[in-house]
Amino acid sequence: MKTAQIEQTETLNPYEIAKQQIDAAATKLQLPLHITELLKRPKRVLTVNFPVQMDDGTVRIFEGYRSQHNDAIGPTKGGIRFHPDVTLDEVKALSMWMTFKCGVVGLPYGGGKGGVICDPRTLSKRELERLSRAFMEAIADIVGPERDIPAPDVYTTPEIMGWMMDTYSRLKGHYSPGVITGKPIIVGGSQGRTNATAQGCVYAIRSALQDIGLPIEQATVAVQGFGNAGRIAARLLAELGCKIIAVSDSRGGIYDPNGLQIDRVEQLKDESSIANYGPSCHITNEQLLELDVDILIPAALENVITQENAARIKARIVAEAANGPTTPEADSILSKKGTIVIPDILANAGGVTVSYFEWVQNLMNYYWSEAEVLEKLETTIVQSYEAVRDLAKTYDTDLRTAAYMISLKRVTEAMQARGWV
Ligand code: NAD
Repeated sequence: MKTAQIEQTETLNPYEIAKQQIDAAATKLQLPLHITELLKRPKRVLTVNFPVQMDDGTVRIFEGYRSQHNDAIGPTKGGIRFHPDVTLDEVKALSMWMTFKCGVVGLPYGGGKGGVICDPRTLSKRELERLSRAFMEAIADIVGPERDIPAPDVYTTPEIMGWMMDTYSRLKGHYSPGVITGKPIIVGGSQGRTNATAQGCVYAIRSALQDIGLPIEQATVAVQGFGNAGRIAARLLAELGCKIIAVSDSRGGIYDPNGLQIDRVEQLKDESSIANYGPSCHITNEQLLELDVDILIPAALENVITQENAARIKARIVAEAANGPTTPEADSILSKKGTIVIPDILANAGGVTVSYFEWVQNLMNYYWSEAEVLEKLETTIVQSYEAVRDLAKTYDTDLRTAAYMISLKRVTEAMQARGWV
């Protein structure tokens, strides 16, 4: 009976969750209702259906979305996700989170996001290229360096960004690198972009560890998701002396209480599967979340920490490299337990921050060294973390609500300055 009750009370719809998160911060800020209502809706949403020729000559129709949430502070910005479970509500939620992510680190952007319902793991490289180009062609009218600038997300890569930039440039008749970020370096990508999401997450974790007085080289870590965000976070934390005791990907996880050799895990991921690390250490994705670690990094998909498992999460710090891994109900359980949740809009803001640097470099046609990029990234994330932490103390609230408060205030001021509200 208890399980049935839980199912009824907790929504796993990311768009509903994003709206609840806005409400929590808007109430603390005492924002007028019409402003809150405006912020809970994307400004523009485009649904596209487009044909792609498969290698066997057949034609498949794919459905995709682009959501532009709010452009009060600047053009909209956010990744494109290729995944079989993409939904319109997920893309809308992700675009809202982007607005507040840009707000919390002070970037001159609003939020956007895109997605295509597909499973890239079942497509050949040429099919993936045709799909990527066709999707960019379908959304080309509403994106652009001064309108909406996509980037990589789940199962999209620098190579895909390069194809999309090329398609947009051909349509416009001139080289236009500023339309998309996360590109290969040779076609306008930024130094440091590949590591940026994980690097930003590590800067935020380092600050949180300082707050609780735990030396980084004594910290144990579990990472769910072994892609751009999770894999690089595991590597960077291992380099700083942390013990990475578990990692996972979509097929499951591996666990060694004495610490995994991350370079070996990376090699196995590239060559075959992380499961080949050793049969004795297999765990499920669910078990990984509940391990007794100092730092848990969800770096895969949404809704993995819910009211069903939140009480069993033992980590002292949950650093949300993924977008939306924790439901609001789980948030309050973790908050009562004293778990420090570094919210997604801060923990993974390193990606969009270096995407912003990439876009600035594209517009100037003048490129920076990796050291310059990392220095600017570190300043942005550390200062944003400290502002969020200090506001959370002032209002006696959690880091997520404080992060939203900073963002909502900024976006509201911009909408007021433009005479929208
Ligand atoms: P990615 O495609 O590089 O990697 C995704 C990883 O998650 C893969 O290892 C995959 O095997 C794993 N995975 C997929 N389904 C899973 C499941 N059900 N359980 C466990 N693991 C699963 O994607 P990414 O760019 O690393 O994105 C991961 C998360 O980080 C997403 O929530 C994304 O929105 C967020 N994010 C990414 C960036 C970025 O710059 N790439 C920036 C901000 C936020």
